[in-house]
Amino acid sequence: MSTHPDFCGTIGNTPLIRLNKLSELTGCEILGKAEFLNPGGSVKDRAALGIVQDAESKGLLKPGGTIVEGTAGNTGIGLTLVGNAKGYKTIIIIPNTQAPEKMEMLRNMGAEVRPVPPAPYSNPGNYNHIAKRVAEESENAFWANQFDNTANSEIHATTTGPEIWKQTDGRVSAFVTAIGTGGTLAGISSYLKSQNDAIQAVCVDPYGAAMWSWFKHGHLDFDDGDSIAEGIGQGRVTENVARAKIDTAYRVHDRHMLAIIRHLLHNEGLFLGASSGINVGGAVKVALAGGPGQTIVTILCDTAQKYMSRLFDQDWLTENDLPPEDLSIEAMIDEMKSES
Ligand code: PMP
Repeated sequence: MSTHPDFCGTIGNTPLIRLNKLSELTGCEILGKAEFLNPGGSVKDRAALGIVQDAESKGLLKPGGTIVEGTAGNTGIGLTLVGNAKGYKTIIIIPNTQAPEKMEMLRNMGAEVRPVPPAPYSNPGNYNHIAKRVAEESENAFWANQFDNTANSEIHATTTGPEIWKQTDGRVSAFVTAIGTGGTLAGISSYLKSQNDAIQAVCVDPYGAAMWSWFKHGHLDFDDGDSIAEGIGQGRVTENVARAKIDTAYRVHDRHMLAIIRHLLHNEGLFLGASSGINVGGAVKVALAGGPGQTIVTILCDTAQKYMSRLFDQDWLTENDLPPEDLSIEAMIDEMKSES
């Protein structure tokens, strides 16, 4: 057992967990990187730390300063906790459509939370543009800019990627994950490809996002459908996405995502949020496309704790056109086979 010098030292070095039943059913090793075990509860703790350390080293964030960010949740939580540990204040600009639990959580952690009406990226009232202006207008403030600040993907290239390489003894043959900012996918895949160019880098999208369209067809036009997954689903090529060299992309339906999160909860003891379900769905698609014998790694982003009132509420799911009945994992795999 070792002692960490501070809170920030507890971010990263997460376990890699074998998803036993899905591995058995596909003949592949399907492994989930347990990012939900980070101290702030998600993969975004790494991005928060990476962005803050980079800003400190460039003199953009000075002692007693304020971190400003537009975020729907996890990045805000990471920035607030890292900020608390390092003596920075945090102002979080959040669309007012987000679950009230998230805003409460951020307020209780000490962030100043400013809810704003939702607006598309093309509108100056979009939460990211507001965050930039708030930082410019505040004294000693820094805009984290997670979407286009490549310190986000860089921390994954220097920490998460090498951890996965070591944890699989270099056996990883494919890495697959969904895109919010693209930091996780770009950073990890660029490191893994630097070790072995044959490692497949795969994007998995929920319906309603445009990254699948971008990587498969080179345009952003196919953003059809919809998803209840929070934290993922990108419609533009961010600076972090632009860094990613992606071999292929898949899409996963929300009803398959739900089958996976129920399966992982009841059979593997993993209580995971929707983006993790989309990611594991992507891993199953990679397994089905390439056949048995692959070692496929994906990200278990956060737990279902922040989304219980949605993911586990049958009335809410029915209102959102999602079937309440359980689809077995075997039936889900059969449906996925007929899709590809
Ligand atoms: N899952 C969840 C729950 C998230 O909050 C995020 C980040 N918004 C992601 C996945 C995607 O991570 P990234 O921003 O690195 O693409």
